[in-house]
Amino acid sequence: MKLVRVDGIVLRAIPFSETSLVGSLLTRQLGRIGVIARGARRPGCAAAAAFQSTNLVSCSVYMGERSGLRTISHLELEATHESIPRSVELFGLVGYAMELVIFQAPEEEPAPRVFRLLKGFLHAADGATLAEAEMALVAFEFRLQRALGWGLCTEVCARCGAVVTGATRLSPREGGTLCPACDPQDACGETLSSGDLSVLRAMLLEPFARWRQNAVSGETVAALSRIARSVWQIHAPAPTRSSSLAFLADVRSDGYGKSGTRSGENAGAKDFASRRPMTQ
Ligand SMILES: [Zn+2]
Repeated sequence: MKLVRVDGIVLRAIPFSETSLVGSLLTRQLGRIGVIARGARRPGCAAAAAFQSTNLVSCSVYMGERSGLRTISHLELEATHESIPRSVELFGLVGYAMELVIFQAPEEEPAPRVFRLLKGFLHAADGATLAEAEMALVAFEFRLQRALGWGLCTEVCARCGAVVTGATRLSPREGGTLCPACDPQDACGETLSSGDLSVLRAMLLEPFARWRQNAVSGETVAALSRIARSVWQIHAPAPTRSSSLAFLADVRSDGYGKSGTRSGENAGAKDFASRRPMTQ
């Protein structure tokens, strides 16, 4: 059995048996893997604190011939994103990004681009306002789609290749913007203003840090978010009903997330973290 040293982001961690944790790691070297940390919940074991959703860790993974949960050992905490669990809404947004990776990134296939993207997104979301995090999330979705092969084409017509300028129609089904000649052949495209189109193009190209400083209107973020979700619905092999988004909607509708934070510990976030991310 081969022992591989990896850097990873904890996507999910769930108590298992009296003493262990099972979960999912997105690693730089091996892609997304299912793991078990045996004995991690024993008193005095530092691994339990390290093995928490959104943490960056390094560890050794036993890679046998058969697939299934990989045993990890020598788990060390590399970095945390402390502000994320302090806000239930921020935690819900980040939880949705984690769900996308859990369900869309192929298992045990190296995906360094997806690793870099998620690491960059977590860094941007940590300490961000909700508005900033929502912008970063939409940018993350478009870039993740591109990294997985469903990236939107935004420079030319997705159907005929003609150059597209100004306000335009965008078809998630066709995979991008449409020229006026091709537009009538797509019944369910979205209309994008030229401003929205430049934001979309910038989101695909520019680092997340830009969205910390750049004010984009809530309408633009909502329009782009709708497009990103349509792309998942059309192209993604896994179901896209997200328990994080449902959780976020609950928080927003009952008003207790208005301040962005519950008093005391983040009980909501903890409940949420132990749920199965996307229900089928
Ligand atoms: Zn065309």
